[in-house]
This record gives sequence, structure tokens and C-alpha cells, in this order.
Amino acid sequence: MHKKQIVSPFPERRKRGCLACGAEDIKPGRRYCSKQCRQKLIWALSLSKGLLQTLNARYAAFSFTEHFVALDVMPTWSIRISRFVYKRKSGYSPANTLKELILEAGNEWYNKRSRRISRSFASQSILEENIEYSINPDSIKPNTNMIPKLSADQKKGLKHLNIHLNTLIFGDYVREIKKAYRRMAKVYHPDKGGDGDMFKEINRAHELMLQWIEDPKFRSNNGLPGCWSYNGYTNRWSPPLWQ
Ligand SMILES: [Zn+2]
Repeated sequence: MHKKQIVSPFPERRKRGCLACGAEDIKPGRRYCSKQCRQKLIWALSLSKGLLQTLNARYAAFSFTEHFVALDVMPTWSIRISRFVYKRKSGYSPANTLKELILEAGNEWYNKRSRRISRSFASQSILEENIEYSINPDSIKPNTNMIPKLSADQKKGLKHLNIHLNTLIFGDYVREIKKAYRRMAKVYHPDKGGDGDMFKEINRAHELMLQWIEDPKFRSNNGLPGCWSYNGYTNRWSPPLWQ
């Protein structure tokens, strides 16, 4: 592997452009240059799952530049990152190159196994040969912030009650929602000269938030800026986050 030819962190992590091949001339609002291009990379990423499971990956990240692709792996038993790099041949897409990288790493693993080395030792030895000390281990851990999942009406409800979304993430949200309701109801209560319609809205908003409290749903904000990320627990790849 051509691992020493690359400086870390992996240069020029891509901003806009096709998430699968990097092509810059894509239609506004689109994330891929074509359906086929996306499919090809998704296929190569699925192919990588066999290797990642063999290596006991907890997290992995896939990124590419004009000249290289890189697969960073953090195994469950270490906080070090091993980087597998492969040079892109001319005319080879990141997806094609990733496939070559996977086959080569797989071959290395089988070669070790054929020398009567145990499965886990073969995996450990491949990872150790490719450790890249200069990469910050946090850089491939996806953001695990839990984002509240709200309906459009519930989002409006939050606004009417003047509650920030962060309150639902970090705060004692049951208490905060009650507090916000009492505060806003006081302001808009018709008996105290408030706006009757607004008072109804506040009550409706409160009901909607009580619904959410009964069964609070969150979605995890999986993904890394600029590169594809893999989570070993779910065995799934997530596309890069928009920057
Ligand atoms: Zn593309």
C-alpha cells in the first residue's frame, strides 16, 4: 500500500460536489452527479463491510482526493487509527479504487492467514502495519448528538412557546416545557388583556409538546463532514454531512 505518500490529515476534504466521485458540475441541490455514480459507491462501501468486520472495526471513514482514496479504521480494541491508502489510476473513480483497496487488504489478510496465523492476529497485524499516529482518533467518530425528531406542527409549537431546540437535547425538557407554557399563557391570557387567538395557539403548542413528551423521539446525527463514515455497531455507512 502507498501509505507513506500521504500527509495527514487527509488533504482537501471535499466540500460541495458529487459525494461519490467529487465531480463539481452537479445540479444545484443535488448531492450526486448521477444515480449510477451513487449506486457504484454504495456497492463498493457494502463490499468493504466484510473487511471491516474482519478487522473488528468500531468506526471507519472513507475519503478521497483527485489522486488517492483512504479508508481509516478504528478497531474495537484500540483508539489508534489505521489508514489504508490506494492511488487512483487514471479513469478510475473513487468507487473503483475503493474496490481495489479492499481486494488488496483482503489479500494481505489471507496471506497472513495462510502462514498459519490466527484470524484475530492476522487482523491485528494488518492494522498495526498501517497505524497512522498523526490522525486524531476523534476525527472518525461520528457526532453522536441526539437531535429531537419533531413534526412540522411540533416545531411551530416550540416557536410559540419560545423554547430553544437545545432545551430538548440538554435540559430537563418536561420542566422547561411546563415553565415556558405558564410564562407564555400569562402573557397572552385574554382575561389579562392578551390576544385570544395567540392564547389558543399557545395552548395548542403546549398540547403538541405534551404529545412529544409522552413518546420523545430522537434521531442520531450520524455522519462526518467531508467523508463517509461507518459505524461498526450498526454495520452501516452514512454519507458525509454538508459543510
Ligand atoms: Zn459522481
